This record gives sequence, structure tokens and C-alpha cells, in this order.
Amino acid sequence: FSDALDGRPEVFEVMEQHLPLALYNAPRDVKLSFMRRILARDTPPPRALREIEITMHRQKRLSSYEIPSIYPLNILQPLYPQLYRMNPSGFFMPSFLRAIRGDPLESFRDVMRPVAPVVVAFPMLRPGFCDMLVAEVQNFYMWACTTKQKILRTNALNTSPYGVVLSDMGMQGVLDDLMKQFVSPISTVFFSEVGGGSLDSHVSFVNLYHGDDNNGTDWHVDDSEVTLSVCLGKEFTGGEMYFNGRRCENHTTSMEKDEEKVIHPQVPGEALLHHGRHRHSVFPTFSGFRADMTMWCRSSVFRELRKYKTDFSNWCGECKNLGVQM
Ligand SMILES: [Zn+2]
Repeated sequence: FSDALDGRPEVFEVMEQHLPLALYNAPRDVKLSFMRRILARDTPPPRALREIEITMHRQKRLSSYEIPSIYPLNILQPLYPQLYRMNPSGFFMPSFLRAIRGDPLESFRDVMRPVAPVVVAFPMLRPGFCDMLVAEVQNFYMWACTTKQKILRTNALNTSPYGVVLSDMGMQGVLDDLMKQFVSPISTVFFSEVGGGSLDSHVSFVNLYHGDDNNGTDWHVDDSEVTLSVCLGKEFTGGEMYFNGRRCENHTTSMEKDEEKVIHPQVPGEALLHHGRHRHSVFPTFSGFRADMTMWCRSSVFRELRKYKTDFSNWCGECKNLGVQM
């Protein structure tokens, strides 16, 4: 943590937005030393430690293999080894790649469109990649069930009886690349107010829904600063996303306004990028088969700074309300 600020003006900028009021007008070096003190004294909470442990364990285990994509315990071979190494032209739609490689302000606007206040949608994944990923997840899931392997669960996976945390399949490395090279450039532009410019970890998973599962979620917020959600197909009815306003920790349950309610259909290959604190739910999938990949992207810098800041009127609908009333 201690060098998170070294030579990275963008981290300073993000942290600066979340300094205590008393420091707003302080000289830069005073702010800098305050930030360093916060970062230095922070010790990761037990859960983060556990994640680091798991990651180190995996890296150690994987480094002894030729292919870094062997499934846990080297028992099950991947169906599609090409999923485990970043290959932009094989993974992403050409329009998406052009946008990422172009000038952010100009080219993002061509491809990415707002579908709700501060939710951006864009065609992202190639159909062939979506199909391979779904097949890979199904293969892993079946293997885990038939051999009674314990696989990781997240709360979100409870919404579907069939889901896999992708790091469990050995995809941590390729997804780290995906976040750093392809999500961060977008979230830096659209979500800098919640640490979109300093994303440094993620939890990613794929959920599978069958029309007769009686699935769907109540509205909730994610344990993320920025969430990437990509529909992987295939043919289905239902499954629409419903958004109803961004709220900070203190105002998660406050009333929504009419203009905050937005329903958006899920389209195979299309990504939605939104605030983790943007309340949302997913309608049940009524028929067919639907799969989605979710990436909860996190910023340890923003999480630390959040402890010192209570007013989020620059994005929380309720903080904004209260500010106006005062
Ligand atoms: Zn608030």
C-alpha cells in the first residue's frame, strides 16, 4: 500500500476527493503525508488477507505448471485453454477494441451509450468467446458436482443454483488483465468519483439461469465500486436489469424517484458498467437459458477514504436531497 501514491497522480486525485473537510485547502505536501499515513497504517481486514492468501497459493501452485490454466489440483483439463490468456482480438468485438485504443473521450462516446443515469452499455464480447466461456463454466461446474469438490460461493451466486467464481477455475490472471486493460480505462472516465480510476482488485463470477428455476433477484447493491455485467447469451425471455438510483452506504434503502427507475433488456455480448452502489435487480428468466458474467471491481484507496467521508452528494441521490433541504 505504501507506494500506491508514488508517481501516480491519478491516485492522488482520487484520494483528494475524499479527504476530511479540514484538509480541503491544505498544501499538497500536507495532503500527501496525510494520505500516506492512512495507507501505511491500514492492515487488510481478515477477508482481504484470506483473498491474498488464496491468490498466493494459486500463483505458487500454477507457477509449477507449463500451462498457467490448469484447473485446481491438475485433475481437470480446460476445454478451451485459449480462454486463460488475454487475447483481445479473440475476446472482444472490433468496435470495442477500437474504442479502447482510441482517444477515451472521443471514441468511448461513439460506442458507449448511457442507458440509465450513469449506466453505460456497449457491445463487448464476441459471440464465440461467450459460448466458450459458458461451456467452460458448465464443464467445471459438472466436474465439481460429480467429484464433490468444494467450490467458492459468493452471495450473488445464491441468486442462481448454478454459478462459478472464475478465480476458482484458474482465470484470475486473465481477468486481472481484463480489468486493468479494458475496464479501468472506461471506469476512469465515467466513475472516477467512486475510485473508478484506482481499481486494484475484483471478484468475478458467471451465473447460469434456466427458465424453470424461478430465479431473479431482489434489488441490492454490489460489494464493488464499479460493476461490469456482461450477458453471455443465449436465448431467453425475461432477465431484464432494473436500476433504481445510486445510494451511499447510509442511504441504501431510501425512496427512489421516478426518473431513477430504468429497465434495460440484456443483450448477448453487451456489457453494462455501473456504480456498485447503483441499486438494481434482475427480473426472472422466464424461459430459455441465460448466462451472465459479473465482475465486482474494487478500489482499496476509495474504500479507505470512504471511512473519512460521509457526504456523497456528488452521486448519492439521497445525500443530494438532504443537501438541497438544508
Ligand atoms: Zn447518501
